[in-house]
Amino acid sequence: MDIDLSFQAMTMTAKQFSEMSKNFIRETMVTTGAKKAIDKLTAPIWSWGQRNALYPLHFGIACCALEMAASSGARFDAERLGIIYRSSPRQSDVLLVNGWISAKIRPSLKALYEQMPAPKWVIAMGECSISGGPWYDAYNVIQGVDTFLPVDIYIPGCPPRPDALLDGFLKLNRKITAENRGSFLED
Ligand code: SF4
Repeated sequence: MDIDLSFQAMTMTAKQFSEMSKNFIRETMVTTGAKKAIDKLTAPIWSWGQRNALYPLHFGIACCALEMAASSGARFDAERLGIIYRSSPRQSDVLLVNGWISAKIRPSLKALYEQMPAPKWVIAMGECSISGGPWYDAYNVIQGVDTFLPVDIYIPGCPPRPDALLDGFLKLNRKITAENRGSFLED
C-alpha cells in the first residue's frame, strides 16, 4: 500500500475501509491467478453443498402440489435427500411449479422467482406447468412456465407421482454436479 493509500485509509469510515480492502484483496487475487486456482480447488465443495441442500419454495398451485406433499411424507421421505421446503423465497433456491399458471398468477410467480437468491433453479412439475396440460390453448392459462422463466428440469405426468418428483430432484442434483460452479470471491 503506498503513502497516498494509507493516508486515505486514515480518513475513511469503517465501511469504506472494508470496501477498499475487499477490492484490494480481490484485485490481487485476480492478477496473481490465485482466485482461479482457489476456484478450481473449491468449486466441487460449493457444488457438493448446493446439490445436497436444495430448499424448494413451499408453494402449491394446483393438484400436483398434493404429490409434492406426499413426497415429503413418511413413505417417500424427501428430506433424506436434503430436500427441505422453505416458506420464504429469500431462503429458497428451487422454484417448483406444480400446477397451471393462469394469466393472473403469472406476475406473482415471476416476483417470487426474482426474490430468490442466486444460484437458483426451476422445476416444471406436471403437464400444466410444462405446456398448459388440459388447458392447452386456453385464453387465460400460460402455455408453459418456460415462456417466462428458465426451466432446468421437466417432470411430465398428470400428476407425476412422488417418486417421479424425487427423480426430478436427483436429475437436478446431477445437473448441479455437471455445472460445478461456485466461486471463492464474486466474479
Ligand atoms: S398436471 Fe394434472 S395433476 Fe398436475 S396440476 Fe395439471 S391437471 Fe392437476
